[in-house]
Amino acid sequence: MTTPRPPGTSADPSGGCRSSTRRVWLFDLDNTLHDASHAAFGPTSVAMNDYMVGELGIEPTEASRLRDFYWSRYGATLLGLVRHHGVKAAHFLAQTHRHPGLEDRLRMSHHDRAALKRLHGRKYIVTNAPRDYTLRVLAALRLADLFDGVISIEDMSMFGHLRPKPDARMFRCIAAQLKVQPSSCILVEDMRENQKAARRVGMRTVWMQRYLEGRFRGHLRGGATSGFNAGFRPREVGVHPCPSPRYVCAKIRSLQQLLTLG
Ligand SMILES: [Mg+2]
Repeated sequence: MTTPRPPGTSADPSGGCRSSTRRVWLFDLDNTLHDASHAAFGPTSVAMNDYMVGELGIEPTEASRLRDFYWSRYGATLLGLVRHHGVKAAHFLAQTHRHPGLEDRLRMSHHDRAALKRLHGRKYIVTNAPRDYTLRVLAALRLADLFDGVISIEDMSMFGHLRPKPDARMFRCIAAQLKVQPSSCILVEDMRENQKAARRVGMRTVWMQRYLEGRFRGHLRGGATSGFNAGFRPREVGVHPCPSPRYVCAKIRSLQQLLTLG
């Protein structure tokens, strides 16, 4: 794994430490910091299906079936395409995350942004999204200056293999790169699989629930058949039938609640 880099800059050999506290916050991006199901998930889903149809020469129904299979098996469509179809990760990510007009659709809670400013400790983005997309989101939402670094999917390789979330080895590697024990890290995340893996290596976990089931917009996003949400599938956000999985240390609906965590 490469050294975490500050948003929009080259690698930071110091690890980006700007705070005296040993607490390290690891923030997921999509549906944790912003309403990704409104801004990006629909177009991404459609682009992935189109990519598979075009590059693999398969029917749309088979593309959809394979995406389901790779998601459930690997936690990411990309891993299945790399392992079983020889797809180049950089090509796939570039083709499926173009998102024209993305900035106009992005939105987040102003209270969440204010809470991030007040939160003590080092703060990093840890996302399975590509770096270019991540930097666009952070810039548009005026969040880039609030983080010490970005760990995107391009940074999550170990021994020549992609190891994105929910790979527990990658979480352990992140802590080592940041020169802290996993127990000093708090993962703030909307997906249960990622919390489970982080907890397994000793990190604390916070389940961000603001955007689950479209609560932020006041309607269910899973039923969308047109517009920006076309093609979006609710299973991809990690809605868990159990209200309190044991690997979840805290549940929040606002980043303001992080200010009260002990
Ligand atoms: Mg997420």
